[in-house]
Amino acid sequence: MARERLLILGGGFGGLDVVREVGRSRAAREHWDTVLVDKENFFQFNPLLPAVAVGAVETRHIVYPLRQMARHHHVRFLKNKARRIDLERREVLLHNDLVERFDVLVVAVGSVTEYYGIPGAVEHTRPFKTIVDAMMLRARVVELFEMAEQARTPEQRRRLLTFTIVGGGVTGVEVAAELMDMAGETLLPRYPSLQREDLAVTVIEADTRLVNTARPEHSEYVRRFLERRGVRVRLGSAVARVEPKRIHFADGGSLEAFSIVWTAGVGPPELVRALPLAHADDGRVRVDGRLRALDSQGRALDHLYVIGDSAAVERDGGRYQPRLAQTAVATGGYVGRALVAAAEGREIEPFGFKETGYIISLGQHSSVVDLFGIPLSGRLAWLLWAAAYLVKMVGFRKQLEVGLDHLTHLVFDHDSSQIMNRRQVLSDEELNLSLKGVEGDGGSAAAPGGAASAPASRRAQATPRAR
Ligand SMILES: Cc1cc2nc3c(=O)[nH]c(=O)nc-3n(C[C@H](O)[C@H](O)[C@H](O)COP(=O)(O)OP(=O)(O)OC[C@H]3O[C@@H](n4cnc5c(N)ncnc54)[C@H](O)[C@@H]3O)c2cc1C
Repeated sequence: MARERLLILGGGFGGLDVVREVGRSRAAREHWDTVLVDKENFFQFNPLLPAVAVGAVETRHIVYPLRQMARHHHVRFLKNKARRIDLERREVLLHNDLVERFDVLVVAVGSVTEYYGIPGAVEHTRPFKTIVDAMMLRARVVELFEMAEQARTPEQRRRLLTFTIVGGGVTGVEVAAELMDMAGETLLPRYPSLQREDLAVTVIEADTRLVNTARPEHSEYVRRFLERRGVRVRLGSAVARVEPKRIHFADGGSLEAFSIVWTAGVGPPELVRALPLAHADDGRVRVDGRLRALDSQGRALDHLYVIGDSAAVERDGGRYQPRLAQTAVATGGYVGRALVAAAEGREIEPFGFKETGYIISLGQHSSVVDLFGIPLSGRLAWLLWAAAYLVKMVGFRKQLEVGLDHLTHLVFDHDSSQIMNRRQVLSDEELNLSLKGVEGDGGSAAAPGGAASAPASRRAQATPRAR
């Protein structure tokens, strides 16, 4: 009998668990001809991205080659991007005019950065979603320290070292904490002309508390922890518009920021939004109790599963499951088991899932953790954080590499080498910024666009800063 074609789009937290379950079962391997498609040829372990952004964990240690994983589980792997899903014809259109047909499709393409249509947000901020975003952020921070060290006025130094994170959710606070750790503890002492007051790391949050998915006492703990470390926290500040190097708020105020990182939210990619199915308000595809997509009349489609961040999985009180790795793993594992059961001619119970809690890393070997309702914070929580993520890394090699990174950073500072080309991390305007300063004063800031604001005759000589 010809095998049925199972097509899995996306080899992230959700997709990989489908592959694992199907690959482990002999019956499933005989029944399904499985193809995994991902636009990247690696899996990235997102929870450690903030640590990668400051060099606390090495870049390559949090990625795992999908081809190796697919081969191990007897699955064919294609590195390609799905552009359109044709549900009528049961085909997925890929790049290079390639088409993959399917009998059963699993959509596990995750989410993309959501800008909520805020003017200027896409153009003038940097996302924090991929390993490349993390590498770029780290390179940019070090590059700006190098520039600031050579700047001739306090205003120039302060301007260059203003880092603002929009979005005080888990990712935002983790990035702010790690950034402060690297910038304040490792970099500052290595740049003799820079001082603590030259550095500003700010987190902006529209809600009245940070990490509003956590317990209120943990939100408060995180705020106090960050503020103690020198991070400025602006709560209840909704961003209305972003201009180059400036954020405007809905209440009319504004804030200058040389580097703006956008961590304010995620939403489904266009591939998912465009499906002619039932969608939740945030664009995710609604699914039934067996994670099958619902069509616009609310009927479950037997041949289409949606999992992970792309799926709106109902939970108690009419709400949807949060977009977390644990939800993606649970939904992926469930669909994998359902496909194994289908190959064996049986059915499994509907999907059931209980959250285990959350872990928020705050740098400096500190975390807050909620594990099955038990709250923890501080160093013990950090140890739990490190151990939990070590266990979850794919394969022993990655566990070893990340484990050694943690041990190394318990003893040594971050490495401050910046190996990228300046052009890769700075815009043309930033590259050409004048740091020359103004003769006889230590006070004029460089004007937006790069030139010093003082007349040319006064810009002839630079005045080194008194230490
Ligand atoms: C910086 C950061 C930190 C996070 N920290 C945590 C945390 O601490 N704890 C936690 O629980 N969750 C965390 N998350 C959220 C968690 O990573 C996601 O909820 C989870 O990855 C969702 O799994 P998924 O399988 O739906 O999508 P993903 O894991 O994102 O996988 C989607 C896959 O689809 C591929 N893909 C996308 N579009 C296409 C296409 N058109 N064609 C082919 N392939 C495509 C992608 O390359 C990717 O491999 C974090 C996320 C980020 C960005």
